[in-house]
Amino acid sequence: MIEMFEEIYGNEINKEILAKSVEEKKFSHAYLFAGPKGTQKMKTALEFAMSMFCREETDKPCRKCSQCIKIIKGNHPDVHIIETLEDATSIKISQIRGMQKNISLKPYEGDMKLYIINQCETMGDPAQNSILKVLEEPESGTVIILVANSKSSILPTILSRCQILNFAPMPQESFIKTMKKVKNLNEEDSRFLFHLTQGKIGEALDAVENPEKQENYKMIVSIMDKIANGNFENIFNLSKFVKERKMADIAVTDYLLIYFRNKLEEILKNEACANTDYLNIEKINDIIEKIIDFQSNTKINLNMSLQIENLLLRIQEE
Ligand SMILES: [Zn+2]
Repeated sequence: MIEMFEEIYGNEINKEILAKSVEEKKFSHAYLFAGPKGTQKMKTALEFAMSMFCREETDKPCRKCSQCIKIIKGNHPDVHIIETLEDATSIKISQIRGMQKNISLKPYEGDMKLYIINQCETMGDPAQNSILKVLEEPESGTVIILVANSKSSILPTILSRCQILNFAPMPQESFIKTMKKVKNLNEEDSRFLFHLTQGKIGEALDAVENPEKQENYKMIVSIMDKIANGNFENIFNLSKFVKERKMADIAVTDYLLIYFRNKLEEILKNEACANTDYLNIEKINDIIEKIIDFQSNTKINLNMSLQIENLLLRIQEE
């Protein structure tokens, strides 16, 4: 039998808070699950949803009753998940207006309704203000879970109306123990995954299921190491590889960020071994900043590969 949150690793305090509210059947009107991508926020929200609606008296969620099954299948009429639509980069205000209309309707199955809004950090101010209206006039029996990769772009007026649960990546030692226990990985593979995901366990589990992600990263690291050592023609090999593997631009920038952050950490730990003629702390910091800029600027995304080439060419500058 799987217990509540048994497949959610780390973030123990959050699990305790949520389990207690299920036990006491006392729920906040609004929660905010905030933390970096890949820290199992959505999985936690769905697990919490099941426990909230489960028909079993003890050992919720049972994963067998009609309520649990409907949530697993994604067709529970009182559990609504709002996410960015395909080809969109943000939650639209029309989606929030739809939710506002729906919220006044009675629940179909019981006496509760749940709305999970994923990727809240993508919402513009108009959409956020619509959410704020909902939060200001809470409907009884309605619970809203906002899920966000970062709190920084969420209006303070929204934050003040939510119970905030912060999700953090896992420290290295517990990460390695967890990967051994859950996936039977050896220490070397676990350490590699820790570097790849920076301790984000949801992302690591995903990478175990999708080995091509690990291969892509390994390949990018090997090309980048050559570039960092002065073999600049490899900048174009990187572009070629990315194109061949049909990797999304955003994934490439993620891998580059991880590469440069790990490099920075290496240099800080042991300057002699990781420093090359071409990479130093200032240059790396500058590159990291530029990559984050790329990721937040959707207009630049149009010719991201060219931008990346230009950025990497700067490594050879004095
Ligand atoms: Zn159940």
